[in-house]
Amino acid sequence: MSNKRDYYEVLGVSKGASDEELKKAYRALAKKYHPDLNPDNKEAESKFKEATEAFEVLSDADKRAKYDQFGHAGVDPTYGGGGGFTGGFSGGFSDMGDIFDNIFGGIFGGGSRGTANANSPRRGQDIQVGVNISFMDACRGVKQDVKIYRMERCDDCGGDGAAKGHSPETCPDCNGIGVVKVAQRTAFGIIQSQKTCPRCNGKGKVINNPCQKCGGSGRNRVQKTINVDIPAGIDNGQVLRVPNQGDSGFNGGPNGHLHVNVTVRPDPVFSRKGFDVHCEIPITYTQAVLGDELTVPTIDGNVKYTVSEGTQNGTTFRLRNKGIKKIGKDTRGDQYVKVIVEVPKNLSKKQRELLKNFENSLTDKNYQKRQSFFSKLKDKLG
Ligand SMILES: [Zn+2]
Ligand SMILES: [Zn+2]
Repeated sequence: MSNKRDYYEVLGVSKGASDEELKKAYRALAKKYHPDLNPDNKEAESKFKEATEAFEVLSDADKRAKYDQFGHAGVDPTYGGGGGFTGGFSGGFSDMGDIFDNIFGGIFGGGSRGTANANSPRRGQDIQVGVNISFMDACRGVKQDVKIYRMERCDDCGGDGAAKGHSPETCPDCNGIGVVKVAQRTAFGIIQSQKTCPRCNGKGKVINNPCQKCGGSGRNRVQKTINVDIPAGIDNGQVLRVPNQGDSGFNGGPNGHLHVNVTVRPDPVFSRKGFDVHCEIPITYTQAVLGDELTVPTIDGNVKYTVSEGTQNGTTFRLRNKGIKKIGKDTRGDQYVKVIVEVPKNLSKKQRELLKNFENSLTDKNYQKRQSFFSKLKDKLG
């Protein structure tokens, strides 16, 4: 007569299953087949419906007894007669809310956990600030004052948001629980769930006489000056994290962090590649030809360096360990110095003559090689 599956079979429990076993079995099935979790899945929908019907009947002692005695005919309205049907698919919802709270609380993190969240300690927001330092400060490290704005606990109300002589009052909408029950009528019956109380945002308290200074929020935006310790070796675009200097926390939670975005101004003399410092140094034609002891700038101050006789334009020499300190290490990069030979200009007649004589006097092999190269080039170009 009936092609309906046995209710015990549907829930996967034995005939003698306890209420607790029924609940457990139904919870597992509801979790698996609930339409909200299986959108547009007809099979899941019918499985959910079937399980819900089975649970409704078996969790009601009276209906269960009738079902045990008469089978589906005892409880299903479509069968009419049998053992005095009493309203079928609607009563006995006291356990349902409980079950769905459990399912959705667990799956979506909503429901009753909202209460704990609104009043439990939470870290404040992180904040950002920019700081602009010189190249030399970046090389050596610097303590720099930076102005920031952050949220701090209101002194006037001590953070509870209520005006002097008042305190926050229990929320009348949720009676201080922070959540309200929402019943939703669906094709499968009434589904009850919880949501965060919109009146108090889950705090369970409302402020009827707000503090004038903070307007009831319990926090104010204040300007602060923070001395930030910028380590030697910081590079343009790096971000320093200063712990616990961000917005104040909620419900006694810790402050957020302060993130300092560092901009390093370019230097007229030095540039940086990784941890190496690069610079150019002009020398005279005579210094290049004869060699000389040069005074070379470094980030630690001037040092002496001897260029050898016959130094060519563009020659680069290296000063070991004169580069930038590697953050958190004892090692440093190197400094590379590129020699730029300045060619003398606007010579006097006398100087020109001296230079011609000098040129004519050159006899070294390289010089002669170059001469022949240039004469070949001349021939080619006509
Ligand atoms: Zn206040
Ligand atoms: Zn409330």
